[in-house]
This record gives sequence, C-alpha cells and structure tokens, in this order.
Amino acid sequence: MDSGVVELAIIGSGFGGLGAGVMAIEQGIDSFVILERAKAVGGTWRDNTYPGCACDIPSHLYSFSFAQNSEWSRSYPAQPEIEEYLERVTDNYRLHSRVRFGFDVAEVRWLQEQTCWSITSHEGDIVLASAVISATGPLSQPATPDFPGLSDFAGEVFHSANWRHDVSLDGKKVGVVGTGASAIQLVPAIADDVEHLDVFQRTPPWVLPRDDRPAPLWRRYLYQWLPFLQRLHRWRIYARQEFLSLAFLGKGKIANAMTERIKQETKTLIDASFPDPEIAAALVPTFKPGCKRLLISNDWYSALAKPNVDVVTASIERVDATGITTSDDRHHELDVLVLATGFAVTDFPSPLTFIGRNGVNLAEHWEDGASTDFGITVSGFPNLWFLAGPGTGLGHNSIVFMIEVQLQQIGRALRYMRSESVASIELRQEVEDASYAELQRRVATTVWASGCSSWYIRENGRVDTIWPGTTTEYWWRARRFAPNRYLMTAGRFGQITPSR
Ligand code: NAP
Repeated sequence: MDSGVVELAIIGSGFGGLGAGVMAIEQGIDSFVILERAKAVGGTWRDNTYPGCACDIPSHLYSFSFAQNSEWSRSYPAQPEIEEYLERVTDNYRLHSRVRFGFDVAEVRWLQEQTCWSITSHEGDIVLASAVISATGPLSQPATPDFPGLSDFAGEVFHSANWRHDVSLDGKKVGVVGTGASAIQLVPAIADDVEHLDVFQRTPPWVLPRDDRPAPLWRRYLYQWLPFLQRLHRWRIYARQEFLSLAFLGKGKIANAMTERIKQETKTLIDASFPDPEIAAALVPTFKPGCKRLLISNDWYSALAKPNVDVVTASIERVDATGITTSDDRHHELDVLVLATGFAVTDFPSPLTFIGRNGVNLAEHWEDGASTDFGITVSGFPNLWFLAGPGTGLGHNSIVFMIEVQLQQIGRALRYMRSESVASIELRQEVEDASYAELQRRVATTVWASGCSSWYIRENGRVDTIWPGTTTEYWWRARRFAPNRYLMTAGRFGQITPSR
C-alpha cells in the first residue's frame, strides 16, 4: 500500500485531466497529481484505436486554445494524430512526472475532520487531496450488450473501444453490432479486408457528408508563422458548429429548414449508393435529426453497398458458437464479432464511488437526476469539480471548448480559495436545485427529448447528459466563479488537518 498527500488530485489524463494539469500549473499549484488507471495519457484517444477512428469535430477546434497545433495533417485527423497531440501537450507542459500511472481509482471519500478527500485505488493505495477534479470523461466505460449465448461464441469478440490488433480480419466473416459514431468509421475501414461483413443495425443514423481535406504544407507554414490566421480558422469552424445548434434547440422556421436539409442530405447519400428504394428505405431514420448524435461520413453507405457487406435489420435473438441468429430465424455465420455498441454514458458517476459530506453516496444523490451547477459542482461534495460532467455533453460542438470553460471557473475558484483563506467550498443546495430545474425545463423542448432512445437519456427518462443551449451561452454563464453560490469554511486551503 502506498500513500501521498497533495493539494489537488486530478482523476484521468485525457483532454480534461491534462487541461486541468495545465490549469494547476498556471494557478501556481505546485502540489498536484494526475491519477491515471492506464499506462499512458490520452483517455478516449488512447483507448479507441479501431481502424478508421477519427474525431467528428475538426481538430483545429477540437484541441486546446492554449496549445494550437499548426501541423494537423487534415481537417479530421485520425486517432493516432490526436493521441500524439495529447502526448505533446503532456511533454510541453512537463506533465509526465505529475501523472501517477496505474492508479485505478475505486473510491473518493470526503474526510470532514481533515477537510480533504481520501482517494483509494483498487489496489488499496491512498492519496489525500484538499481538492479533486474528476476528469474521467463520459466515454470511458464501454457498454457491452448481454446477448443470450454471447459467452458461447467460439470466435473472437471484442468492443470497438478495446480493438484487438492481434486478431486479423483478413478473409474472415465479421459481424459489427451497431451503426453509431464508432461503427460508421470502422465499417468502411475494414470492409475491403474481410471476406464477408454483417452490419447489425438496430436504428439507422442520420448522416451528413464529411468535408475532410488534407492540409497543404503551405497552410501549415502559414499557421506556424502567422498563428492569428489559425485562430481565425478556429473561430470560423466554431461559428459553423455553433450554427448547427439552431437545428437542435429551436422550433421555428430556421430549425425546420435545417432539419429538412439534414434529412435531404442523408437521403441523397443513401440514394447514391442504394438505387433500390426498398433497400434504401431501411437505412432512413425515423427519429428527428440530432436526437441521436448526427454522424458524418463520405464512405458509410458506399461501404454498406459493397457486395461482401450485408446490413442486417432483423434484431439479434441469440449468439452461439458459430454466429448470430436474428429474429427472422436466419443464422449469420461469423469468425469475429465486433461490438460497436457505445459507452455507459448515463451511468454516472460510475465506475467511481464518491462519498461526500455526511457519508452521502453521489450515485444515490443523482439517482433521480444528475443535478449540478453547470455540470461542474455538486452540493454535499466540497472541493470537488467535474469536467465534461452531467448536463454538459454536446451534439454540435467541441467538448474541449466546454472543458476549457469549466477549467476557467475551477481556476478562479482555486485562486479565490487560496487568496481569501477558504479551506472548503460547497455548492448551495438551492443553487443546484434551481440550476437543474432550469436544465430540465429547457432540455424538454430540444431535439434530444423529441422521442428517440439515445445515450443522452437515462433509464428514468431524464436527459441529464446534454447542455440544452449554445456553447457561447455556456461560456458566458459558467466561466466565472460566483462565491455567493457556495457555502465556505475558513482556513488555509491545501493544509490537511492531521486525523485525531
Ligand atoms: P453509440 O453512438 O452509442 O452507438 C452504439 C450503437 O450500437 C448504436 O447503433 C446502437 O443502436 C447499437 N447498439 C447498442 N446496443 C445494442 C444492442 N443491444 N443490440 C443492437 N444494437 C445495439 O456508440 P459509439 O458509436 O461508440 O459512439 C458513442 C459516442 O462516442 C458518440 O456519440 C460520440 O460522442 C463519441 N464518438 C465520437 C467519435 C468522433 O468522431 N468524435 C467517434 C466515435 C465515437 P441504437 O441506436 O438502436 O441504440
């Protein structure tokens, strides 16, 4: 068993955790640690290595504003480039020595007498910290369906987020379950290698063309020597993405026109690959565009139309040693089964256990609704901040932007606590209630509550995951730390009272 005492503990080393590390350095916090369960930084961009993996937000926007990269090779670079970028940020800010690798957090418990958090790993190691930033990310827990007989499958089965690079797909009969953001990237990437590919579709997605272009060398030089031009480009992308929110948030003429345009674009893409209207009809979604994440691809439908690819629309009944039987009694023989079935997003705060003041378990506190203040703080859980927390997910813009807004507020809170001799701050219950009520009232009129099933919606029917506004509004309202929203106890921040 190993232990340590720090001012600030950051859980996770993806975009959020690394951004928090930079914020800590900028705030002059010398005593901080980044706790990472894996052996490398990068979060979701370290874990998702499936063929074709890329971001669906252009990287000039999906990157830190303080660490612009003139070297992006194209508008939507592939996963290795994004992972390398995060490693470079880690190096440039000398964060490596701050990361404690292999520390898989099990429990985070508030010790009232000592005014600190006790963070315990699955191995029993303990870190005491005056403050904690949870940056575990919403896409860190793969969701694996429990199809009857799945364990009987004699071939290889793995989740898209745990890609088995040691399993060759060449000349194999492969099944991919799912038609979401991961499947739409990996299916075109593997279709030519396999003998046969069955794509098991439960719900077809809305798909827009992907405007992906290589970045010419001259432009990379230009951005390197005239960084303001790159900033202009970043803001242009930001404005374009923000514009998309009109289709998701509003109800008026513009929203309807944008929705119709999205529908038309998908239909045009489908018709180009599937001239037979009967087959094409099975690929057209029935839910409102945006209700599930809007996808972008130039090769999804052409991949599905390949002679060795079948879209299976009958539901999966059971798995056996040799493949999958669907509800139409057909047996699909498979050598390899890929589960592109997404992540346990609404299961927060799982897989971590947070025990706050008075022994309150956060999972119970959030049972009826994941109430927070701008997804950042929670009543009953002092000195604890979340990045990309509940109610801050997006369907249209860069989550890195949201993380940076959250870090602005956290940085200001920490500065306030250190300069005003505040040992702990805790969100007022009434602030949390009002904040959550507003979120729920507003989300009810958005596309995400328009009647599809998606990972934005929890089992109890609440849309707790998504920010129901523009990111500009979020920036305006959430960037500042407002002391009047918090209960405070006086004392020196960072000084952990010894236990009696
Ligand atoms: P996802 O969007 O949740 O898609 C999961 C797919 O699996 C859906 O088609 C779903 O069908 C299907 N599925 C789940 N359980 C099933 C079951 N029991 N039987 C049959 N089908 C089942 O997951 P994802 O594709 O991994 O993407 C998750 C999120 O990750 C995205 O929304 C996005 O935010 C992020 N992501 C981003 C990028 C990027 O480019 N930035 C790339 C990959 C992922 P239903 O639709 O019927 O539920």
